Amino acid sequence: MENCLFCKIIAGDIPSTKVYEDEKVYAFRDINPQAPTHILVIPKKHVSSLAMIDEMEDTDLAACLRAVRLIAQQEGLKNGYRVVSNCGPDACQSVPHLHFHILGGTQLADQMA
Ligand code: AMP
Ligand code: ZN
Repeated sequence: MENCLFCKIIAGDIPSTKVYEDEKVYAFRDINPQAPTHILVIPKKHVSSLAMIDEMEDTDLAACLRAVRLIAQQEGLKNGYRVVSNCGPDACQSVPHLHFHILGGTQLADQMA
């Protein structure tokens, strides 16, 4: 999709620190990390948020979550991690391309909001 920051990252038009890629998924380090490990996992086919996943193939959605598990293993997050997907304005979603944050590498806050 034109003018989508994360589509541009997938296309290589904007640089990113890749940690994982397969046919359906791309994952890279968040530019403003909020934990020692902070990775974004995104589907290669543009969909704006979880609110729009009716537009998405189940296999693409499942591939994102399977990639989360693989990446957590790859990053050595043996003691756990948090997966967050901000959806819409109330959740302060700032990039309208579905993404799953993987946060870990430390004891995370008990409160999520
Ligand atoms: P959200 O606020 O849930 O939409 O998350 C968007 C995330 O994208 C934020 O954590 C940003 O720090 C991150 N971000 C924005 N631009 C970039 C970029 N060019 N490379 C990596 N992460 C980015
Ligand atoms: Zn996009």
